[in-house]
Amino acid sequence: MGTVPGMTMPAVFIGHGSPMNTLERNRYTDAWREFGSSMPRPRAILAISAHWFINATAVTAMQDPKTIHDFFGFPDALFAFQYDAPGDPQLASEIVDMLAPTWVGPDRDSWGLDHGTWSVLAHLAPAADIPVVQLSLNAFQPLQYHFEVGAALAPLRDRDVLIMASGNVVHHLGMLDRRLPDSGYGWAVSFDEEARRLMTRSPSEITSLERHAAYGSAVPTPDHFLPLMYLAGLAGAAGATCDTMVEGFAMGSLSMTSYVLR
Ligand code: ZN
Repeated sequence: MGTVPGMTMPAVFIGHGSPMNTLERNRYTDAWREFGSSMPRPRAILAISAHWFINATAVTAMQDPKTIHDFFGFPDALFAFQYDAPGDPQLASEIVDMLAPTWVGPDRDSWGLDHGTWSVLAHLAPAADIPVVQLSLNAFQPLQYHFEVGAALAPLRDRDVLIMASGNVVHHLGMLDRRLPDSGYGWAVSFDEEARRLMTRSPSEITSLERHAAYGSAVPTPDHFLPLMYLAGLAGAAGATCDTMVEGFAMGSLSMTSYVLR
């Protein structure tokens, strides 16, 4: 990774899947590693994780964000994992200003880095030496709000910030089937394919997925789907389309598809 002045940073949506991906190596984590080692080195990373889904739009503004282990029932090695990247209070205040008049609350002491962020950065930026800031997902807002906030973040790409949205296009934990380790149900594949068509051809139409016949099954709660709106918004702002970084399914109802905007 080397700094290239005057260059627009790529942005990504990562389908993060199981927290165990932090410790494992598979074709998804290999794709995240390959992207991370080929991207220009950013001054900071703005992470938009499915796992900070709260009643407001907020940004982490602490100097040293803690590693949050926001899950249960996983091995001790996962609870022992630490991602010790610094925060970036200056970037947090830039984001507060950039998104005005949309209100963004600076969070100095409640959140930190959750596993939607560090399970991916463990591969994408394993040295943990690039500052990381998280933006929350406002649970009270519709898809269009998230798309517009994503679009409004576009200037950060010209300020050497890597924007990394982390969720899953299809995420229905209640329907996971361990007999299908690497495949998806028909409805899930159909939804993922429509998402891919939109992201790679007309990302500004991404909110039309809300009318897809499988929306209720693919998106039983919006938290993992919303991060995709941010990359679509960034693509819309750039008048560009996204490329598929890696695609696939885990256990029937979990899409592992990831996208990159260059
Ligand atoms: Zn998750």
